[in-house]
Amino acid sequence: MNYANSTRGTNRSTFSFKRDRLPNPHTYYTKQGLKLTGGGEWKNALCVFHQDTHPSLRVRLDTGAFRCMACGAHGGDILAFHMQRHRLSFKQAAKDLGAWEAA
Ligand SMILES: [Zn+2]
Repeated sequence: MNYANSTRGTNRSTFSFKRDRLPNPHTYYTKQGLKLTGGGEWKNALCVFHQDTHPSLRVRLDTGAFRCMACGAHGGDILAFHMQRHRLSFKQAAKDLGAWEAA
């Protein structure tokens, strides 16, 4: 009997996400069509994750974090927003935003 057991699971992916290349949250959210209102740390906007008639979405312009008070959509940065809004993988969203570098 000759057992040829040469299946090796080399699954080493090079992680090349460049967070510092993400666009500025204000620029990004404006381009996504959000009308940001309010003067505090958290800006208000109509939520894009549900049928919103009254601004329920809160976004932070320093970190890009967002949270909807009505439907509960939330994330810590614009990458998370982009993934959820456009149903993309992490990598695809990072590429879309110009923050992925091919190694
Ligand atoms: Zn919502």
